[in-house]
Amino acid sequence: VPDREPIEPRVVPRPTGSEGDRTERRYLAIDLGVSRLAAGVVDDDGRILVRDRVTTPARHVWPALTRLVGRVLAASPDDVRPVAAGVSCVGPVDHAAGSVNAPQVPTWHGFAIRDELAEATGLPVELDTGGRALAQAEAWCGRAVDRPDFVALLVGDTVEGGIVAGGRLLQGRSGNAGDLGHLVVEGEGRPCRCGGFGCLDAYAGGASIEAETNRPLRRAPSAIIERTGIMVARAIASVAAMVDVRLVVVAGAVPAAFGQPMFDAVDRELEQRSRLVHLRRLLVVPGSGGPLLGAAALARARHRRAEESATAATQ
Ligand SMILES: [Zn+2]
Repeated sequence: VPDREPIEPRVVPRPTGSEGDRTERRYLAIDLGVSRLAAGVVDDDGRILVRDRVTTPARHVWPALTRLVGRVLAASPDDVRPVAAGVSCVGPVDHAAGSVNAPQVPTWHGFAIRDELAEATGLPVELDTGGRALAQAEAWCGRAVDRPDFVALLVGDTVEGGIVAGGRLLQGRSGNAGDLGHLVVEGEGRPCRCGGFGCLDAYAGGASIEAETNRPLRRAPSAIIERTGIMVARAIASVAAMVDVRLVVVAGAVPAAFGQPMFDAVDRELEQRSRLVHLRRLLVVPGSGGPLLGAAALARARHRRAEESATAATQ
């Protein structure tokens, strides 16, 4: 469990109702990566006004995070205070406890980061996986605006996702629906951290690829880029057929490093696999923002829920 220290400089919450109009609204965005922590302040149009990041330290992670958050809050232009905070992380998330449960980040296990951050910042906090955050960001100000049915696929250190159907993010029993990393894309394939074999994460996750190639993503051989595209396409073909979507947004460190050659491999493979009438013209596009935009989308969703319940209470 990380050490607990208050954020410095200590942020004093302002009374609600002083947030100003929509364009003045700001969100505190925090992304808990496996190897680095990022934070920023984002406005209601999805513009990142301030951002900062640090390498995740081996010890004293919570003080490092609170210092980072304190810095970006202090640097927020015009001293406009965010109305909510969003935290994206590697899944799965324990939504009841407000904690991160991913095996890759044992330092956060059992730590009620949602409540601790709320206490430290005075802000309401939304916590969710990076894939589900990506889906909400793309629907808010990215490639899926006005698209009620789509899939978001986050291919970063790990593979995560989010499924939007009828304009709503699928939740699932524990609130972790959309974890596409464990779709099986290769029978009898590589072992996966989930205990299974042949999962998409074992082929397309950045951590898996770096472990296999023993070099950074940017220097991955072209055969690996091609294979990644093929595996991503297999997963997309399966999920698109299952949930009936035409749009899939793919983002994260892997597509950022591999670029168009990976998307070309995706398209070639899909041409072989998605021949059902309703899956023709399946559109696979790069995402439009990074993890901080996803975290901001979580904060925005949290704030809108609060606004809606306040409105309902006065009616
Ligand atoms: Zn797996």
